[in-house]
Amino acid sequence: MTMITLALSKGRIFDETMPLLAAAGIEVLEDPETSRKLILPTNKPEVRVVMVRATDVPTYVQHGGADIGVTGKDTLIEHGGQGLFRPLDLKIAKCRVSVAVRSDFDYEHAVTQGSRLKVATKYTAIAREFFASKGVHVDLIKLYGSMELAPLTGMADAIVDLVSTGNTLKANNLVEVERIMDISSHLVVNQAALKLKQEPLRHIIDAFASAIRQD
Ligand code: AMP
Repeated sequence: MTMITLALSKGRIFDETMPLLAAAGIEVLEDPETSRKLILPTNKPEVRVVMVRATDVPTYVQHGGADIGVTGKDTLIEHGGQGLFRPLDLKIAKCRVSVAVRSDFDYEHAVTQGSRLKVATKYTAIAREFFASKGVHVDLIKLYGSMELAPLTGMADAIVDLVSTGNTLKANNLVEVERIMDISSHLVVNQAALKLKQEPLRHIIDAFASAIRQD
């Protein structure tokens, strides 16, 4: 029996991947929100799901800890995508990466003046490329959580973060001043696995492809 291991992360990615798995006839038998198990069984003995941190999904798939995974485009860009096939945009867990500042900060003036902008973000690769393309000098401050706090404490002028409804920004008196890119989650596949486990992986990829919502 060829075992297929799928890497997922908790939350929107897990929830929105379930209907795609159902299209492939796969049902996860435990809820990761209540189970402490890191390896979840499915109704198919040859398919299992490993629960990993969102930023670790590309790493697990790259190094063969999982054969396939679902990961945000933001995470994929930051990871670099080495060793991964990326056959499908699943169009799930949609959001955007944007620049946000305190509502009393004059962003337009700051980016045209040629002065340096202090930017706090978890997305240093995306931020570096974006501001370089605008010709704006930035000092990047790498953070791992709650980026909203950086402008509020005066540590940074701006943040680069994921925005979905905008409620988090609003609640912290921040405003979205530029949209950098739209984000959705992608299916990533280990390159060696795609050759060695071609048939079962093809089945899953094709089922996912047919179940992608086109809106
Ligand atoms: P919102 O208040 O709806 O704009 O959501 C913003 C917060 O949720 C930010 O802290 C983001 O980091 C996080 N967030 C929004 N969309 C996603 C997503 N698709 N994946 C992971 N985190 C997200």
